[in-house]
Amino acid sequence: MNGNNLKILIDGIIIDGKGSGPIKDQAIIIEGKKIKDIVKVDSILKNIKPAYTLYDLKGQYIMPGFIDTHTHVQMSVAQTEIQKFRENIPKKTLRAAFHAKNTFEAGFTSIRDLGAEYLIDLDLRDAINEGLLVGPRMFVSGYKIMPTGADFPMYAPEVKIEGQHVMDSPEAIKREVRTLLARGVDVVKVMTSGRTARATSSPDAYALSLEDTKIVVQEAHNQNKKVSAHAHGAKGIKIALQAGCDSLEHGTILDDQDIEIMLKNNVFLVPTLSYGRRIEQLGGKCDLPKYAIEKALRSRENRLKSFSKALKSGVKIALGSDSGMPFVNHGDNAFEAMSMVEAGMTVMQAIQSMTSCAAELIGISDKIGDITPGKLADIVIVDKNPLQDISVLNNKDNIKAVIKEGKIEIDRGLRFKEKA
Ligand SMILES: [Zn+2]
Repeated sequence: MNGNNLKILIDGIIIDGKGSGPIKDQAIIIEGKKIKDIVKVDSILKNIKPAYTLYDLKGQYIMPGFIDTHTHVQMSVAQTEIQKFRENIPKKTLRAAFHAKNTFEAGFTSIRDLGAEYLIDLDLRDAINEGLLVGPRMFVSGYKIMPTGADFPMYAPEVKIEGQHVMDSPEAIKREVRTLLARGVDVVKVMTSGRTARATSSPDAYALSLEDTKIVVQEAHNQNKKVSAHAHGAKGIKIALQAGCDSLEHGTILDDQDIEIMLKNNVFLVPTLSYGRRIEQLGGKCDLPKYAIEKALRSRENRLKSFSKALKSGVKIALGSDSGMPFVNHGDNAFEAMSMVEAGMTVMQAIQSMTSCAAELIGISDKIGDITPGKLADIVIVDKNPLQDISVLNNKDNIKAVIKEGKIEIDRGLRFKEKA
């Protein structure tokens, strides 16, 4: 049941995404794709026009659609390297669509997907926008900008694998960024450090150099697109910040000087705590190579220190689950909010990081991220109080409805009320 395009939500408790709430006794009027108005319930009940459908939320919580600023819907949590290489592109695309749907069903109406192979992310974004599939609004980066050795595993010298984009010269980097922008990416993802999850890549070493990263930033900013930097170690972080990147993904080792630059230049931190937290929870019982477990746990220790430093100093922190990494399931994106609260955020701060703050990082605060008249009606209805326990958001059973642009896409028992 989608209802018509004129809706009124009454008797819900609003948590608006901007830090206010819970707000009671309001009616949210939705016309077409947008929130038309928010008014006192008493005033609207007296003169509802017959064209409107009335939804009585009976004390359930009304939140803005959730936003995850760091996903990998193409990546499968459980697939081995060899399974990935055996799978053809159509199957990979269907898999990505399935993951995007799982994410959406958990209340995430928008995601920023950072780094996909074969540009699957661009077509998936467009297919969802065309209405071919139900899924989150996607903001995508296409290929990551990275040099040899930063990410892909090394195989025997005679093995050549298509689709793995690496670039090692300024010319190649410039061409790659310009090509991605021309193809229509929403954001550029650059790797300024190596990875924790690869045997042959060091998170402490820089990946792209400062000079090369500056090229990326210049080309992206020239077309008003932001640059998101995968940066773990001190070297990679400093390169990302000096080059002018707009967000640090992971940000594992931050010093005071980094924090100062982040505050001055409005650089967001996307701490991606879920992976390390999950490995920690699983302890020794986790099916990963020993080096990966050790690197993840060491990284977690450092990242928690950097996270609290950033939090205390007022650096903007946006939720990014890094879903697709081992044990970080698509659809469990709100586990990241739980991890951030465990690490010191208030519940309200965590909610802002997955709504208004995330929208600000993506650059779409004028359209989504909070519940305000004039914005798109991306709304999630939750039947338990997340302010008491943030973990209620990471259970689909509690997510009673997902509304995207005024349309009820997921309905797990939204109560419809006949007009008196
Ligand atoms: Zn990632």
